Amino acid sequence: MKPNGTNQQLSPLASVEDLAAQYPDVPLEAIFKEDLLRRGVAWSHDALEIASRFKLKAYFIFSFDMVPIAQMDQNENVKAPEEMRLAGGPFNFRPVVVSVRLNPDSPYRVEAEDDHLYLKLEERAITEVELQPSPSYYKRTLANGKPIMDIAPTIEWGYLLYLTVFRLCQYFGAQEECQFCDINENYRQQKKSGRPYTSVKTVEEILEALEIIASTDSESKAYTVTGGSITSRLEGRSEVEFYARYPEMIERRFPGRWISKVVVQALPRDQVQRFKDAGVQIYHPNYEIWDERLFKIICAGKARYIGRDQWIRRILDAADVFGPQNVIPNFVAGIEMSRPEGFETVDEAIESTAEGLDFFMSNGVSPRFTTWCPEPLSVLGRNQEGAPLEYHVRLLRVYRDTRAKYRLQPPPGYGDPGLGRAVFSVSAFMDVLPPLSIH
Ligand code: SF4
Repeated sequence: MKPNGTNQQLSPLASVEDLAAQYPDVPLEAIFKEDLLRRGVAWSHDALEIASRFKLKAYFIFSFDMVPIAQMDQNENVKAPEEMRLAGGPFNFRPVVVSVRLNPDSPYRVEAEDDHLYLKLEERAITEVELQPSPSYYKRTLANGKPIMDIAPTIEWGYLLYLTVFRLCQYFGAQEECQFCDINENYRQQKKSGRPYTSVKTVEEILEALEIIASTDSESKAYTVTGGSITSRLEGRSEVEFYARYPEMIERRFPGRWISKVVVQALPRDQVQRFKDAGVQIYHPNYEIWDERLFKIICAGKARYIGRDQWIRRILDAADVFGPQNVIPNFVAGIEMSRPEGFETVDEAIESTAEGLDFFMSNGVSPRFTTWCPEPLSVLGRNQEGAPLEYHVRLLRVYRDTRAKYRLQPPPGYGDPGLGRAVFSVSAFMDVLPPLSIH
């Protein structure tokens, strides 16, 4: 299996160092973070045993792993942490939070020494690894016995409560599911592994979990209500009818306690207004990929049911409803270079996505990224590795510079920007923005 893209003749460490020399305006920590996200990380037996005492990976929506559970020989799926914070070490890292994407074949490996954890790349120590203690509510269950870790896990170092209230997607099968997404397959593998994994969470379950969290936790600052797309009906409800009940009831019970976000499809203006009326502050109509040809191939269900032009129009309509800064569509960074249909070169991929960023940002809407994780149970992840590191480094620059061009403030609902403060863990886009104090 050959990795995509350029710079392949260099070793992984040499490749990071080469890019750091080429792009000194991108922090070294952000380059390592993107490399970890696109390659995943392996864990030694001893490191996993230590990690199992901290906040565990909750599989909050997708697998975000590079091997299926069936191939995890060390039971990594129940021992690995949600995230790790890299700090100090030979490269003197300023703290950076990285989502843990399991890959036993990765050149990155976490190892233990005297009860401390270190990240190594090709046997060379890179940085120390800190883990987040498990919040007390992770040990609690609802009255019906369901663990809070299933109903309301936190990510982003405790900042964000991630409420996947529907763990499946009605875009179904290779002709409709987004090709980078493993939501339906991941649900099946989690159930098969024996993990408590609720397919449809009730409003009552969410409220009961939040009641416990609100009484014990001061770390969480935002919540996201999300799940798969609803193209027909779910429990007799349309997408907006199903999803809007959650923020509506949360805001009624805990008014203003958290920043309220939803991730749903690009819906018509009157439906978007319903979310706003329910108390939602931030709307994520995830766009995934800018290029017109690739959108139709990679997001075939979205293209068929809603269509690219309509998706774009609805994003701009939503900007009228929420205010443009509160409309934040996600791009899956790197799928532009996936085989067999993606761009061949980093230049082409960056040019395309830069055009999309410029379009949205010129309208005050700031997209954000999730670094593509080639999940083996997704269509695109079956037989290829992620996009080249050069692509991710250059994308961070384009993102940062386009925001600056349009004088956009940091996106709300992500915590503080800037290296050493950012907590967003599945892309380094918040790590490369200037810290608030110099805005
Ligand atoms: S709409 Fe696409 S990305 Fe979203 S859950 Fe469904 S298949 Fe996955």
